[in-house]
Amino acid sequence: MEQGKRIMSGMRPTGKLHLGHYFGVLTNWVKLQNDYECFFFVADWHALTTKFDKTDDLQQNCLDVVLDWLAAGIDPEKCVIYVQSQVPQIAQLHVYLSMITPNNWVERDPTLKDLVKMVKTDESNNKPDVSYGFLGYPVLMAADIMMFNVDYVPVGIDQVAHIEIARDIARRFNNIYKVDLFKEAQPKLTQIPLLKGLDGQKMGKSFHNDIKISDDEETTAKKIMQAITDRSRARKDDPGHPDKCEVAFSYWEAFGDKETIETVKAECCAGKRGCVECKRQLACAVNDYLRPLRERRKYYENHIDEVREIIAKGSEKARIEAQKVLEQVQDAVKMYR
Ligand code: SF4
Repeated sequence: MEQGKRIMSGMRPTGKLHLGHYFGVLTNWVKLQNDYECFFFVADWHALTTKFDKTDDLQQNCLDVVLDWLAAGIDPEKCVIYVQSQVPQIAQLHVYLSMITPNNWVERDPTLKDLVKMVKTDESNNKPDVSYGFLGYPVLMAADIMMFNVDYVPVGIDQVAHIEIARDIARRFNNIYKVDLFKEAQPKLTQIPLLKGLDGQKMGKSFHNDIKISDDEETTAKKIMQAITDRSRARKDDPGHPDKCEVAFSYWEAFGDKETIETVKAECCAGKRGCVECKRQLACAVNDYLRPLRERRKYYENHIDEVREIIAKGSEKARIEAQKVLEQVQDAVKMYR
């Protein structure tokens, strides 16, 4: 435990979360909440940077994301859970930071470059349809981080550039206004165990290859029966190769206990285990693992006012913290107040 150290991390409200999110992010957050003061937020303004014209499900998506966090074991007694847009101080800080951030710092962000390519192109002029808000999202992310003066931001290696920009902006603010206000947040690199989609590709809702935390057991079992196995295996008594069984065996490694994994491996290699039966057993193991999470999610779905209350309380805590920093910013810049 690093006493008194703060961590912040967020997720866009893309709807119900899948097992890629669970193993890639949430299991890590559940560990972190025991060792740090954690701020976890639903990044709804960030969602607008690309989906500004698709907001019909935005409110429900925010709730779904928090439902999945709670299902996964994020404890509102241990960490601050808030929705970004419920903390307007972040938008104000974003304005101040936008004024001092050189354009080329934003343009050099490699993640932004990749995202620009992905954003839909306007067919009439074939230019990327990228908004002003979208280009500024590294600065908004810096505001997210600096608003709570966090020490660490858990990120994958591809996100380190964002933290560097946030650090540069924090340093620039301190230098320009001759204050020692902002910490330079450090990336906390996480070894993300990637759980592939059922087809062996990256797991994603739009690829229709995901299993959601909230899926029921029957749906989960049906999906697992579609998972790809060792493609070189023709008959069920052919010796199998767990290392080539990219999906089913990797799910065993994620969901099985040590002894079961060894048994699956040995029986597969010896040709004593058919893939159909193996996946049937795997579906049971996955459902057993997820049952307590799903029960927790069901409880909160049936008590949605409690979830709204958790968000309201967390957002209030976040606003109180944010207001203190915002007033220091306003004083540093010598704004009228
Ligand atoms: S028996 Fe199981 S581990 Fe072996 S290839 Fe088939 S699904 Fe994969």
